[in-house]
Amino acid sequence: MDLGLRGSRALITGGSRGIGLAIASALAAEGASVGIVARDRGGLGAAAEMLRRRGGMVATAAADVTDTAALERAVGDIAGALGGLDHLVANAGGTVGGNLADAGPGDFTATFALNAGHAAELIRVGAPQLRAAGGGAVVIISSITGMRPAPRTSYAVAKAAEIHLAATAAAELAGDNIRVNAVSPGSILFPGGSWETYQKENPEAFGRFLGTQFPLGRLGRAEEVGDVVAFLLSRRAAWITGANIVVDGGQGYPSARTFS
Ligand code: NDP
Repeated sequence: MDLGLRGSRALITGGSRGIGLAIASALAAEGASVGIVARDRGGLGAAAEMLRRRGGMVATAAADVTDTAALERAVGDIAGALGGLDHLVANAGGTVGGNLADAGPGDFTATFALNAGHAAELIRVGAPQLRAAGGGAVVIISSITGMRPAPRTSYAVAKAAEIHLAATAAAELAGDNIRVNAVSPGSILFPGGSWETYQKENPEAFGRFLGTQFPLGRLGRAEEVGDVVAFLLSRRAAWITGANIVVDGGQGYPSARTFS
């Protein structure tokens, strides 16, 4: 199936490693130009070198996505380098602190800003670029932790907000021919990622998690999320908007941690 992405232009936050890099890589393999945003310039440079080997045009912008002015500059710089934007992927995310009871002051707000906050600001500053292109598509990377309660609380709540943000922004922007969807991955294992670290630090708990929560007998791969996002951004997904697409291999409990 030809996704028809050749020549389109996509910006991915957190595109320098992990799931974001897999998304950029899937898009580049389809002939799209990609712009990646992250904080660390070294990581951006290494990712750009890998993506260029895929053949397409690649732009980078160093910015902390929770700094709205910096995010706005990054969107402008990448749109300028790629000649506009057709697709936005709000992928950067993570947890500041843990559960509510053991969190520091401001951890909830910081976690919310990194996940749902930056996704909303990305849509706000990026939508004019998509409008200028005659429409486009947005994907927000949420998590199955946003769909049912599990540690860590602030992260779970922020991820739930991302799913509702996708549905609501889809309704708001449909008139501009802009589709917005959420993708909710289950636990994704990749070198240098959080699950690899957890596996090394908590081998027994990881073993129990792997043995009980994964019908397919393994965690997910970043590429398996990247391919779904590439499809959702493509015109082959023209009738999908406001949805939350789960990519979790039928995973049960969303976390290896428990509250008690
Ligand atoms: P990683 O921590 O491996 O990578 C995060 C990426 O985002 C890096 O490129 C990092 O680069 C960038 N980033 C982090 N913070 C910021 C910031 N403040 N400003 C700009 N860039 C930032 O994440 P994953 O690939 O594991 O996760 C990606 C997304 O998928 C997240 O939204 C996460 O919540 C979600 N997810 C992950 C799952 C998993 O199992 N891994 C499961 C379900 C959802 P740099 O550090 O240089 O800024």
